[in-house]
Amino acid sequence: MTGTTHVLGDGCAAMMLASRVDELQGHSLSVLRPTGAPEAKDHMLGFWGTPGLEFAAELSRHSWSTWAVITDAKQAELTSEHQPYHAMHKAVFLETCRRKADALGVQFMTQQKGLKTHADQLFDSRPPRAQPNAMLQHFVGLEVEMGSPVFDPEKAILMDFRVDQSHGMHFMYLLPFSPTCALVESTMFSTEKMPRSYYVEAIESYLFDHYGASIDHIVREEQGVIPMGNLSPHDPDIPGLGANGGAIRPASGYTFAFLHQQIQDGIERSKTGKPLVFKRPHKRVDVWMDSILLTVLRHWPNHGPHLFVRMAEAMSGEEFIRFMTGQANWRLRFKVMRAMPKMPFIRGFSKWMFSRPHKVVS
Ligand SMILES: Cc1cc2nc3c(=O)[nH]c(=O)nc-3n(C[C@H](O)[C@H](O)[C@H](O)COP(=O)(O)OP(=O)(O)OC[C@H]3O[C@@H](n4cnc5c(N)ncnc54)[C@H](O)[C@@H]3O)c2cc1C
Repeated sequence: MTGTTHVLGDGCAAMMLASRVDELQGHSLSVLRPTGAPEAKDHMLGFWGTPGLEFAAELSRHSWSTWAVITDAKQAELTSEHQPYHAMHKAVFLETCRRKADALGVQFMTQQKGLKTHADQLFDSRPPRAQPNAMLQHFVGLEVEMGSPVFDPEKAILMDFRVDQSHGMHFMYLLPFSPTCALVESTMFSTEKMPRSYYVEAIESYLFDHYGASIDHIVREEQGVIPMGNLSPHDPDIPGLGANGGAIRPASGYTFAFLHQQIQDGIERSKTGKPLVFKRPHKRVDVWMDSILLTVLRHWPNHGPHLFVRMAEAMSGEEFIRFMTGQANWRLRFKVMRAMPKMPFIRGFSKWMFSRPHKVVS
């Protein structure tokens, strides 16, 4: 027996690890509910059905083989029959992991003082901290039931930019579960959150303008703020796991697939007798490309719609998935770079170069 591993936090990363503790040879695990943790709230988790995520795909509520990116001028549609886009309730995922973890003898406790000194090994999955003025992905989503059948349940809309762009890059994310029911999220990339009424009114106008219909009733609401770019750990003295271990993809906010990659890598390493560590699951070049893209979106958000539709047009469905899930090779990265308008990225690169903290050599 190697000793006890404690995980602070009981969200997706902690529970995914807990449900796989039998693969961590010699470790016993305890999951600690942190002091000050907010009440758990359900929301949908979107991800592509890439290898390794079959267990999550089985729990999904709906999946789509086709997804779209839409602007005023264009519509790019992508398809993958083998790796569709899935949406799963976070609560269903956590409950399923909890059952597996209970059966594997994982202990669930609340955080106690002094834990840090007594713990054999401790990982922290509380949320990371963003720098002041960080770029944020902020959104309000309504699961709506419409009065008439207006949605195509075969096609997810990842980004529809035909909405107000005057406060930063703004798009609708629309996951249709049936012809009358969909999750519709008003999503922005900017440094400032908007009042709830802004997102709700944007959703209502969007549905009216582009689907010619109004909401019959709201089934559920979700909202979130995901920090983007470089983040600091919740506590610099405790190694992170999940979003707090660098799993948030800086320019997209997608996290679920990456925390799976991080945990898989940690498990593989421990099987070879190495100490259990959870590394940031992104390649340096991808983080660099994301920082340039975020610089462009921060300073010239009006380029956002054009950039994202060009990106989607340049790739096949399978390539898009590889790019979004950190599996791109150099050929694919160059293909994306070639498809991008050059001027915003040249300006973005210069801005990024001059805004980086410089080392002082004494
Ligand atoms: C509304 C919403 C929608 C999202 N949609 C997607 C999506 O579609 N696809 C995707 O890949 N990702 C999505 N995300 C990101 C998503 O949060 C992550 O994929 C996943 O939950 C990260 O797992 P985690 O364990 O790192 O963090 P979490 O699951 O958030 O767990 C964090 C832990 O820290 C605790 N905690 C939180 N705040 C505090 C505090 N102040 N003090 C102490 N403890 C605290 C929590 O109780 C929890 O135990 C979404 C996030 C939100 C909020």
